Amino acid sequence: MYNRYNDGWIEVIAGCMFAGKTEEFIRRIIRLQYANRKVLVFKPTIDVRYATTKVVTHKGVSIQAIMIDRNQPEEILKILAKKENKNVNAIAVDEVQFFHKNIVEILDQLANNNKQVIVAGLDQDFRAEPFEVMSAILPRAEFVTKLDAICVVCGAAATRTQRIINGKEASYNDPIIEIGAQEKYEARCRKDHKVLK
Ligand SMILES: [Zn+2]
Repeated sequence: MYNRYNDGWIEVIAGCMFAGKTEEFIRRIIRLQYANRKVLVFKPTIDVRYATTKVVTHKGVSIQAIMIDRNQPEEILKILAKKENKNVNAIAVDEVQFFHKNIVEILDQLANNNKQVIVAGLDQDFRAEPFEVMSAILPRAEFVTKLDAICVVCGAAATRTQRIINGKEASYNDPIIEIGAQEKYEARCRKDHKVLK
């Protein structure tokens, strides 16, 4: 009998901060675990906001994850090659946008080799410019879910991450990679998202 869960594919959960990406990511992993699918979860070492070995939502729900150097996504293949991981069905990667772009080719190959690949990540940086990894993985994905948040200014659908530094909107030239929670970032709509020049 044909069983689509034995085929490989890529599914992407994209969106801005505070859209519930990590909650959705964890929900999909738990759903696979209920069905006794073996899932390995990876995240980049840069994401240290709450814990070093877990994927954690803003509300504190967590699952075990393997930390990978963001510049060495090929570590995923080395871990999968280990004997104890022979029967892994699915690979899940959180904060995928922070990995070196080589991760896209690696995940594509895994999907070709009948692995189910689930990734979650920001599609845009605080300037509302696309993250390179997300731009490359989205066209290769079978399934894309873009989640929106709610604009803290006006209550409209928010798709952008507003960066706030010392109570003011951040400038264009402030560095892109710096992870924080509510005190530094907000979800905002197209109209209310601001990038100071
Ligand atoms: Zn707004």
